[in-house]
Amino acid sequence: MTDTQILSLISAWQPHFSSLLLAPSHSEFSAARRIWNGMIDRQPALIARCTSPQEVMSAIKLARNEGLHVSVRGGGHGVAGSAVCQDGLMIDLSPMKMVAVDPARREAVAAPGVLWGEFDRATEIHGLATTGGQVSHTGIAGLTLGGGLGNLLYISTSPVAWRPWRSHHSSPGSRG
Ligand SMILES: Cc1cc2nc3c(=O)[nH]c(=O)nc-3n(C[C@H](O)[C@H](O)[C@H](O)COP(=O)(O)OP(=O)(O)OC[C@H]3O[C@@H](n4cnc5c(N)ncnc54)[C@H](O)[C@@H]3O)c2cc1C
Repeated sequence: MTDTQILSLISAWQPHFSSLLLAPSHSEFSAARRIWNGMIDRQPALIARCTSPQEVMSAIKLARNEGLHVSVRGGGHGVAGSAVCQDGLMIDLSPMKMVAVDPARREAVAAPGVLWGEFDRATEIHGLATTGGQVSHTGIAGLTLGGGLGNLLYISTSPVAWRPWRSHHSSPGSRG
């Protein structure tokens, strides 16, 4: 995809996003495509930093309409680097940070950009914890899909059930 094609795609789709869509020429692009494994050096055609489920839907529509393949970034700690695609659309969910804890039901609902340490802090103030990871900066998205080998794995103590964010939960960025 040429620079001109990318820029015209951005002007058509930017109104659907609250954060700037990033082309490779943008000053924030290099930082946005960087993940934990520094050996991964792929360059997406475009990065969409999503802040809501609606924006994720727009990103998927964009990719479908424009014939781009996609990758999804949560905490960016997948060692294989599958969060970053080459020449496609990288859907960056890292701005989605909401954690809502319902202590009575011992349940937490969390958005896909939350890191393990952020999730842990939100539950521990209620005296609740669950197994996730041992390293605070891994993403809960990847831990949910595979992994989840944390300190509490073999200990039964104050478990909190948690499930991914659904769109009926309000305000990204808020914490309960
Ligand atoms: C330093 C370090 C320490 C670690 N410690 C532990 C540990 O203690 N315990 C443990 O179990 N694991 C551990 N891991 C492994 C880590 O949990 C996994 O690599 C996990 O997949 C990282 O998730 P992420 O969201 O940060 O990564 P990402 O790279 O963002 O995502 C991982 C994969 O999930 C996909 N994905 C992300 N979000 C979504 C989504 N919303 N929908 C669909 N697909 C999605 C991505 O495309 C990618 O393929 C560690 C990894 C590192 C690098």
